[in-house]
Amino acid sequence: MTNALLRAEHLTKRFGGLAAVNDVSIDLVFGQIHAVIGPNGAGKSTLTNLLSGDLALTSGRMVLGDQDITGWPMERISRQGIGRSFQKTNVFLPLSVFENVRLAAHFDLAQTQQAIRLAKLEHQAQTVASNMSHGEQRQLEIAMCLATQPQVLILDEPLAGMGTVEAKRMIELLHTLKANHAILLIEHDMDAVFALADVLTVMVNGQVIASGTPENVRADATVQAAYLGDAHE
Ligand code: ADP
Ligand code: MG
Repeated sequence: MTNALLRAEHLTKRFGGLAAVNDVSIDLVFGQIHAVIGPNGAGKSTLTNLLSGDLALTSGRMVLGDQDITGWPMERISRQGIGRSFQKTNVFLPLSVFENVRLAAHFDLAQTQQAIRLAKLEHQAQTVASNMSHGEQRQLEIAMCLATQPQVLILDEPLAGMGTVEAKRMIELLHTLKANHAILLIEHDMDAVFALADVLTVMVNGQVIASGTPENVRADATVQAAYLGDAHE
């Protein structure tokens, strides 16, 4: 048995005839980052939507702590302690950092301030989101994700579209957050994945083709052939 905080077992999501997520089991452990990589269309974003409750499972089981949360609606899953960020930036551009996070925190001031602090955005609390760089907006999304004080963070490509400096800052932030959360990280940036991941899972065509320590997965011949070889070209 593992001491996983979130256990997802045999998750499947069908869209008509397509099994976008096909019998995927994944554990998230407090204090660890579990990275999921795979080519476009592998089912990574669909997996995040199943874990957050944004999409209903076709089949499978999810257990958070000792609570079976299978089939729970998104709002209830969020209240139970799973926070998520989206692949596409999802902030309210006309609003300030403070206002964005306050909305996400359901107007709880203490939670708003703590989330802004954890995301290292105190100095920009009054900055309007539209005046922030892409990387800063992604940082704001992390703050919004932290606003409900989740134990589990589900992050869909938080480094997407970032320059080197912004990516480095985000990697440092994720490294800090890992101490107090169980994190699922979907990411294409292999340097970030290998810098951050404690566990690495590779998905192709909705299925897990390898999972284990980053070193073992990197050395796996199936993974080399299916994915990593191409990603490093
Ligand atoms: P990834 O994030 O790994 O690129 P996705 O989870 O976005 O992959 O997509 C996996 C597969 O599921 C793709 O073939 C995609 O077209 C399909 N898909 C995703 N969302 C939907 C949807 N809402 N309806 C139908 N097909 C979908
Ligand atoms: Mg995706």
